[in-house]
This record gives sequence, C-alpha cells and structure tokens, in this order.
Amino acid sequence: MTTPHQPSFTTQIVHADRLGGAEHGAIHKPIHTSVQYGYDKVEDLIAVFQGTAKGGFNYARQGTPTTAALESKITQMEQGLGTIVFSTGMAGICAIFMTLLKAGDHLVASQYVFGNTNSVFGTLANLGIEITTVDVTDAAQVAAAVRPNTRMVFVETIANPGTQIPDLAGIGALCRQHGLLYVVDNTVASPYIFRAGTVGAGLVVNSLTKSIGGHGDALGGAVTDTGLYDWSGYPNIFAAYCKGDSKGWGLQQLRKKGLRDMGGTLSSHAAHQLAVGAETLALRMERTSATALALARWLEQQPAVARVLYPMLESHPQHAQAKQHFRAGSWLLSFELRDADQCLTVCNRLQLPIKATGLADTRTLIIPVAHTIFWEAGPAVRATMGIADGMIRLSIGLEEADDLLADFAQALSGL
Ligand SMILES: *Cc1c(COP(=O)(O)O)cnc(C)c1O
Repeated sequence: MTTPHQPSFTTQIVHADRLGGAEHGAIHKPIHTSVQYGYDKVEDLIAVFQGTAKGGFNYARQGTPTTAALESKITQMEQGLGTIVFSTGMAGICAIFMTLLKAGDHLVASQYVFGNTNSVFGTLANLGIEITTVDVTDAAQVAAAVRPNTRMVFVETIANPGTQIPDLAGIGALCRQHGLLYVVDNTVASPYIFRAGTVGAGLVVNSLTKSIGGHGDALGGAVTDTGLYDWSGYPNIFAAYCKGDSKGWGLQQLRKKGLRDMGGTLSSHAAHQLAVGAETLALRMERTSATALALARWLEQQPAVARVLYPMLESHPQHAQAKQHFRAGSWLLSFELRDADQCLTVCNRLQLPIKATGLADTRTLIIPVAHTIFWEAGPAVRATMGIADGMIRLSIGLEEADDLLADFAQALSGL
C-alpha cells in the first residue's frame, strides 16, 4: 500500500478556501460583513452560545466566516490545533499575557524582543506580574530564572532588530520538564521558515502585518495553539472553560477573554487581504531571504561596516541554531557602521530603501534603530539588547538583488 500524497505548504494554502467549502462555488472565501448571525431554531443559537455546536457564529467580535477561513490557513501552516486572529500582532500578544497570567505569576522572557513587547512588560509589572528578562540564546539562563510561580517563557524565534536566535529546542525541553507554557513570537521567521511545534512551543504568535500578509496594507495578528501544551495542569484556566477535552481550554479562554471581552477583533476586510497575502508567503520568503543573504555577504566585505547581523551568515553568533532549525534566513537584516555618525548619511544616500518603520513590505525599508524604534527604551535597554548607536535595520523587499547591491555600493562609496 502506498501512503497518500500530502500536499505541501503552498499547495495546501491556495486550495484551503475551496476545500473549506466556499459558497456558490467561489474559489476564494467571500468577505462576510454581517455582524449578527441568525438561526431558524433558537436551539441552534443556544448551541453556539454554549459551545456545543461545532463552529457557528453569533456576533462578529468573536469571529466571522472570513476570519475563520484565515485562522484555518494559519493552523495549517503551523500544523497546529487551532488559531485565533486579532486586529494586530500586539493585540494577540497582549491577549496571551492578560488572559493567561495573573497577579503573583512570574514570566521569563527574552531580553531580545520587539520594542512594543518590551513596553508591555512594564504594563504587566504594574499589574503585579513579575518578569525576568534573560539572554535566551543560553537555555541555562532561562533555567536559572525559573521559580515556583513561573508560568510562561516568551521568546522571539528571530529577534527584531538584532536577529538573536534563542536555544529553541533547549528551552522547549526545559518548559516541558517544568510544565511551563512556551510561547514563541514567530513573526520574523514565519511558519514557512520555522515551525515552532518542532521545538515544543505551546503557543505561536505571528504578526500577520509582516511575513504572512506581506504587502504592508493590512494589520493583523494570530495566536496558534500547537496542541503540545497540557492545559489540564495550567492553574489560570477559568472554571467555565475547564470542561470537555482539555486540549481546547487555552484557545477557549483566549477567544472568550482575549477576543470577546477585550475586543481586539480583526475585520473581515483585513482578514481577506491578509489571506490573499498568505498565499504567496513561501514565494516571498524564498525571494527576500536570497536577496538578504546576498546583501549581507556583500556588506560584510565593506570597510565602513563593523558588523552584519543575519542568521545565515557563518559569522552570526547563533548560525548553528539557524542552520539546524530554519529553512532560510528571512527578510530581516541589521548592520552596524564603524562610525555611528555616518548612520544618517548612509540612510539618506540610499535611493531604493524607503526610510520608514515597519517590516515585510514588498518594498525594502530602512531605519536607524537607536534614533527611532528604540529611542524611548533609552541607552541602558539598548545596551542589553545589543543595539549599537550605529545600527541600521533593513527589511528586504521584492526588488531585484542587483538593484539593491548597486544602490548600497553608491551609498557606501567613499566612506
Ligand atoms: C511587528 C511585530 C509585532 C507586532 O505586530 P503588529 O501587527 O504591528 O501589532 C510583534 N512582534 C514582532 C516580532 C514584530 O515584528
């Protein structure tokens, strides 16, 4: 007997709508704008409210058929149990912290995180949640930070902007051993480059605004449950959700508390746009990763450049991790100039990269890090995150590599 052929990444995603049963033979999921969902028999409405109906919609703050179609695509990409989409990546991250932690709990987090995530740590501290940030490239530092009240470990799989990579599998093993919830922000890598279930992550965050949407025209976030965490032992699940198969408890709480109550809902219009973007995720990740690697190699040869941070460079401190776990290096590339004062000159001389914040647009974006996105954080935080004054962050777009290389050559000439 031969085993049936399993469709691979992009094949699965571009056929997901049709196989999910789009109406009238439509091969793309329609945009459902209805806020209310009605039923012929009141028993069916009751079943949706009580969660005894499989699926079913009642009020769009908890989801629509269009957001559900996007959720199902992301679940397929991550090969997970289920996904909840949010209005932004930050809404998804906040939903995890605010609904799964409580005062007196302890969170161990990476010291290398997105600026706004770092800012949320301050909000959590005000609410009585203790946070320890550590260098997650070393699992021993995570282990040393674990206390009896630790509930969760949070890392970015490729950190923004420094491209640090945690000891992904080492932390996974540690979390399993201590029954801790392992939450990874996979925004920069994307499920095409790295599937976090392979290292034992329980929840995976993706800012859909970035890799998955990929066109810089819609905000969104997603939280996927990989099905690997045993929620039956998690102390913070509300009694109302401790019913039925414990596998679904985490998602249930995130949807009810994080989406229904907190209201960070993704609109159906944005969900549709993000789902169209998702269809080309693999193609864009291949293209931008190849261009980023070519540019990273070139930059490494330039006398004006002190350091290039890109996971697929042999010189990257966690290159071995990257080679072991990642299919490619992604679009995020940072570099440091020897003379920090030349930072602004180089940005201004470049003609193609657009001076803007944001990531994973179709156009290349450039930003001096210390002057902008990590300005509010201050010099002490910048130092622990490895952000030098001369650091420049690039988000590589879909331009041809030769055009970008030529532009960088003129911008760095004579420095
Ligand atoms: C952008 C980003 C976020 C937040 O996503 P938004 O959709 O902008 O809210 C979270 N984590 C990482 C790593 C990001 O780059």
